[in-house]
Amino acid sequence: METKKSDIKTDVKSLNLCELTAYLESMGEQAYRAKQIYSWLHKRQAMDFDEMTDLSAKLRSRLKETCTASVLRPVEVLTSRIDGTKKYLFALADGNVVESVRMKYRHGNSVCISSQAGCRMGCRFCASTIGGLVRNLRPSEMLEQIYRIGADIGERISHVVVMGCGEPLDNYEHFVKMVEMLSDAHGLQVSQRNITVSTCGIVPQIYRLAERRLQITLALSLHAPSQQKRQELMPIADKYQLPEVLKACEYYFEQTGRRVTYEYSLIQGVNDTPEDARQLCRLFRGKNCHLNLIPVNPVKERPFMQPKTDVVTSFKNNLEKYGINVTIRREMGRDINGACGQLRKSFADKHE
Ligand code: SAH
Repeated sequence: METKKSDIKTDVKSLNLCELTAYLESMGEQAYRAKQIYSWLHKRQAMDFDEMTDLSAKLRSRLKETCTASVLRPVEVLTSRIDGTKKYLFALADGNVVESVRMKYRHGNSVCISSQAGCRMGCRFCASTIGGLVRNLRPSEMLEQIYRIGADIGERISHVVVMGCGEPLDNYEHFVKMVEMLSDAHGLQVSQRNITVSTCGIVPQIYRLAERRLQITLALSLHAPSQQKRQELMPIADKYQLPEVLKACEYYFEQTGRRVTYEYSLIQGVNDTPEDARQLCRLFRGKNCHLNLIPVNPVKERPFMQPKTDVVTSFKNNLEKYGINVTIRREMGRDINGACGQLRKSFADKHE
């Protein structure tokens, strides 16, 4: 079968400045053009090559022939009337959809992005994993979620959390490249200290990330105080034992100096007892870390419920008694709430 030209176009928004420079040189163009184009793509976030008015018409048309600058299209946007939280469902060029969220805090705008279409990690309480993994997102597709939201709200995005659909460390290369491009002085320049990646705990990839010495925050999805309980909730725990995962997180801290956050979804009758709190204390006493409690978001396909408010509060108090640094995650956009992956899932259900 003949390959269509469009199938082999270069995804120019996924090239870092170095690669873009080499690419333009291979086209016989001068290196400084790369900086101009990179700035159009990542600083000014141009929607197409025609906007790049300081390039010659000839170069623009050559770029159009050989490259794509993928732009995501919002197919659904929900805005919370309570706190301005916005949920976006974006269509990718191949028709897959991913979701992203914008939260407004006193310290700025934070965007939560997806790293994969679907997920293969299988956490029992999570909606993202129900249809399995469709595919990895490219750096351009992760960056575009941030760029389109910034353009939509007309404000600067200062913080990015990779906590949407997908397991970022299962898409390691693209994820790391995205972080480097996002924090690059020639692009949006989001400080690495304002970028957080959440992982279910793929141990070898945590070591790899630690050795890369980025300044991003690592958040580990812990969700249970013991190996046995964790195994009941998260299939990844079959592969990596809890002590191994915690050791990898400590290594991350040692290598980067960045304090690790541990996320703990509180689920009624599953991991919310005083004994669970005591076990957690034993894991973290005296350690420089931060524990974030998240009352589980009910997902209609799953049997899990949030504990009552007083149970959540006493769980937190129990941990504080032992000097553990703990917060309860503030619920944003309660009226448009849906756990991770639910918007995408309901879109898929409607279009089946
Ligand atoms: N794959 C990454 C990112 C996933 S989503 C990870 O596992 O960390 C970000 C966080 O939301 C994770 O801690 C995830 O376990 C949690 N999460 C997923 N579904 C949830 C739900 N229904 N209620 C509360 N937290 C949930």
